[in-house]
Amino acid sequence: MIEKWLVGVDLGGTTIKMAFVNMYGEIVHKWEIATDISNHGKNITADIAKSIDQKLNELDQPKSKLLGIGMGAPGPVEMATGLVYEAVNLGWKNYPLKDLLEVETSLPAVIDNDANIAAIGEMWKGAGEGAKDLICVTLGTGVGGGIIANGKIVHGVNGAGGEIGHITSIPEGGAPCNCSKTGCLETIASATGIVRITKEKLASTKTVSILRKIYEETGMITAKDVFDAAKANDALALEITDYVTFHLGLALSHLANGLNPEKIVIGGGVSKAGNMLAEKVERYVKRFAFPRVAESVHVTIATLGNDAGVIGGAWLAKNKFAQ
Ligand code: ZN
Repeated sequence: MIEKWLVGVDLGGTTIKMAFVNMYGEIVHKWEIATDISNHGKNITADIAKSIDQKLNELDQPKSKLLGIGMGAPGPVEMATGLVYEAVNLGWKNYPLKDLLEVETSLPAVIDNDANIAAIGEMWKGAGEGAKDLICVTLGTGVGGGIIANGKIVHGVNGAGGEIGHITSIPEGGAPCNCSKTGCLETIASATGIVRITKEKLASTKTVSILRKIYEETGMITAKDVFDAAKANDALALEITDYVTFHLGLALSHLANGLNPEKIVIGGGVSKAGNMLAEKVERYVKRFAFPRVAESVHVTIATLGNDAGVIGGAWLAKNKFAQ
């Protein structure tokens, strides 16, 4: 039998990551193109189709090599129809992504939310290592998440399952969140949240800190600075990372009690802080979770980086279209 390839597509607001992936989840070829958000994102599906054809040409492979497309979109998706309810960054509202993609590419397609396909990617080939019950949380500009129960993504009744970032951490007087609420986990544990908290701490205390020096010299501070300073035992940085991981661990412990997962995988830019972050979060998860849940859960850092989405997309296509 001729080996078939899967197409994984991870659509973001600035780039579209694409890959041909074999049936074992190994990336054969990956590339990316710019996201054209002009004209309310109407060129995106045609751009993807052209790019796939171009790549096949370059690699001297026929279109029949491709089994189907699995794609992640930056917004909630109606699974039955592949309709994207809303993708604010692209200007999409009730956008029939699956249908348009299938028309443009002449390939069968399956669509899910981008955080969900990243979670599936980590389950299949990354830090999840085949665990069928896991929680993935992505700490980037915002906080995204994907929950997998018994090998299946939890979508919920209108596609908003797994929105870990919008768990309320501060019920009264919290910082405003992009989702229109206040006090969401995202306002604390995202890169943006960590920077905000650090600036507030620097303004309200006089504590000597590496962070104060960095901020005074450069006029800016990053989440990476905070974790680096914490690793160097800077007292203020330790206080901030403790606050952030406390809230992350607390929220994840509640989810863990509901799911009894084997793994919690932390990804996104902030996860570059590495084991220190995973250990601190794990300590709080275990402290706040039901004992039987606590003893079986392990917090770990994502291993696939930017490839998680395309690999998860490929898994969706494999699951749906392989005989
Ligand atoms: Zn929110």
